[in-house]
Amino acid sequence: MPKLASYNGKVDSIENIKVSPMSRAFLFSDSVYEVISFYKKKFIDFETHLDRLKHSLNETKISCSIEECKTEIVKLLNESKFEDGYIYYQVSRGVDSIRSHFAEESDCERFGFIEEFSFFNQSPLKVMLVDDIRWQRCDIKSTSLLGNVLQMNDAKSVGCNEILMHKNGELTEGGASNIFFVKNKTIFTPELSPNILPGITRHQVIKIIKDKKLNFEEGSYSIDDLKEASSIWFTSTTKGILGVEEIVNLETKINTECELLEICKNAFVKRYFS
Ligand code: PMP
Repeated sequence: MPKLASYNGKVDSIENIKVSPMSRAFLFSDSVYEVISFYKKKFIDFETHLDRLKHSLNETKISCSIEECKTEIVKLLNESKFEDGYIYYQVSRGVDSIRSHFAEESDCERFGFIEEFSFFNQSPLKVMLVDDIRWQRCDIKSTSLLGNVLQMNDAKSVGCNEILMHKNGELTEGGASNIFFVKNKTIFTPELSPNILPGITRHQVIKIIKDKKLNFEEGSYSIDDLKEASSIWFTSTTKGILGVEEIVNLETKINTECELLEICKNAFVKRYFS
C-alpha cells in the first residue's frame, strides 16, 4: 500500500508528491522535524511535541505557523487507516531560486508522512560507544543528522542497532534516543544541555520515576559510570523504554533483568498504551 503523505497541507500518496531540488531541506538540511506517535488513533503527548517543534522553529528562525503544522498533522492521521504508528513531519526554510547560504524570503515548506508501527515486543539493544561528532546545538531537532548517520552506520556494520555517544568522555545520548542507567539502585540520566535533545519520552520516563519515588539523579556522567552500571536504557518515541543487552566495545556489569527497568516499563505502557 502506498504511503500517505502531506506536502504543504495537501494529503496524497507519497508517489504523487513532487518536491523541488531547490528546497533548502534538500540542499542544506535547513529544516527541523518531529516524530509523533499515535496509539489507537490518538496522539501521545501531541502538545509537548508541538512545543518542541516551536522551540526548533524559533531557534532556527524558520517562520511557520504552529497551528498550520498542527492542522496538517491531524489531517494526515485522520485520512489514514492506521490505528498505531507515527507521523514524521518536517518544516524547511523553503524553496530558493538559487543555491545560496543566504536564504531568500520564502514561505516555509512542510512535509510529513505516516507509518504503521507496533510499539511492543522490541528486542533489547546492542550498542557501540562512539565519539559524539555532532554540532553544538543538539537541543534543536534538526534534520542535519550526518554526525548520527555516520556513527550509526559504523555501529551497524558490527551488528549494533544503536550508538551511545560521549563528548570527551562525558555521556550525551543515543543516535536516536536518550539514555538512562542504573547504578547502586539509583537511576541516572544526563542533564539537559545544548548537547542533547530534550526527548519527549525522556520527560515521560522522568515523570514516572518521580511519581514512583524511585532514586533519581540528572547530571554529568562519564564512561566510567557506565562501566559500573547494572542496567542501561534508551528512550524514544518509537522505542519507548528499551534495555541494552551489550555495549560491544566496553566491558560492563549489565544485568538485563533490572527491577527498576520493569517498574518504569510497566508504568509507561499503562500510562500511554492502554
Ligand atoms: N535523541 C536523539 C538524537 C533523537 O533523535 C531522539 C529521537 N528523535 C531522541 C533523543 C528521543 O526523543 P523522543 O523521545 O522525543 O523521541
